Amino acid sequence: MATVKTIDDIDLRGIKTLVRVDFNVPLDSDGTVTDETRINAALPTIKKLHEKGAKIILASHLGRPKGERNPSMSLSPVAPLLAKKLGLPVLFLDDCVGEQVKSATEELQDGQIALLENLRFHKGETENDSVFSENLASLADVFVNDAFGTAHRAHASTYGVPSILSDKVSGYLIAKELEFLGEKTSNPARPFVVILGGAKVSDKITVIDKLLDKADSIIIGGAMAYTFALAAGKKVGESLCEPDKVDLAKSALIKAEQNGVKFLLPVDTLITDSLDFGAKEIGDSKIVEGDIPDGWEGVDIGPKTTKLYQEAISDAETILWNGPMGVFEIEASSKGTFAVAKTVAKSSAVSIIGGGDSVKAINRSGYSDDVTFMSTGGGASLEFLEGKDLPGVSILDT
Ligand code: AMP
Repeated sequence: MATVKTIDDIDLRGIKTLVRVDFNVPLDSDGTVTDETRINAALPTIKKLHEKGAKIILASHLGRPKGERNPSMSLSPVAPLLAKKLGLPVLFLDDCVGEQVKSATEELQDGQIALLENLRFHKGETENDSVFSENLASLADVFVNDAFGTAHRAHASTYGVPSILSDKVSGYLIAKELEFLGEKTSNPARPFVVILGGAKVSDKITVIDKLLDKADSIIIGGAMAYTFALAAGKKVGESLCEPDKVDLAKSALIKAEQNGVKFLLPVDTLITDSLDFGAKEIGDSKIVEGDIPDGWEGVDIGPKTTKLYQEAISDAETILWNGPMGVFEIEASSKGTFAVAKTVAKSSAVSIIGGGDSVKAINRSGYSDDVTFMSTGGGASLEFLEGKDLPGVSILDT
């Protein structure tokens, strides 16, 4: 994918600039923002736009209101929080299109900031409706996309609007995502070690296939490992696995051998005879090597595997990690994931956390400041790593 233009490549003084941000933050019942990560991630772009004297119109979705106004998903609580973080006033507009919104945005002064109400209060947003896109686009002269988490969706605010406006560039957050998930994994400093975990092989097989062309080692953990164990003729008991994906797992193993990629699978496993996800408890547990007996399921990598994986990670110059090594939400089966998190964070390699649950795991491990880059996308990161075109990125000026 060619590099896209950023806000640094364009003069924005006095220009009405519609910025698609990702303020899809969790709110509690009082409307308090309970995790500010996404707001913090948008600050560098907003600050720079303010410095450049742009008339800044911020647009985002929050939750899934399905085209209806829903006060519990209003973006209004974000405006004062953002204002506090920026040290600047933020004008909240209680819709995202319409005459009142239009006249309010026309009155913006250079550097002034307005935040529109939740885009998804209108059905036209997710439907990429042409009239809704026109109405949104009519608010501005330039489009900036800085919402990586929705860049894989062709919605009105990610695709319709930039299809209409002639100038469309990325903000710093998307530029950074492209640099780390794109360039740094395409021309990696070697050894390049990829760690993949999580629930399903089927979610990640295309990523595995792509990375088998780039990586020096691929480390597999999580429930995904049990489908590979089946492919190797082992028993997996009641473990979460996908017997219909065994052929895909076998093909990956063959490709790894052909490409000279080290493919590391668990040599031991923490197993349990019961798992209660709601109560965050597991029953009796033990470590096994080889087959997992009937009535037991794998919930984490074992200590030998953890050591083996830590050694493989410590040699790396570039690390890409996506997906936990076990059911890390339950303390008793979280050791493998947190040990990997610590090793990744403490490594001197370029460490890239590819979104979703691995970001949660790094955050919970307390080592988030030590990694080089954490992706803000879940689905978008995976699709990008699969080599798919992200509509919200490929529509931007190159
Ligand atoms: P993913 O979204 O594919 O990265 O998967 C993340 C989920 O996989 C987490 O909720 C983990 O609890 C789950 N997971 C990881 N290892 C296992 C396992 N051995 N058995 C069941 N679920 C697992």
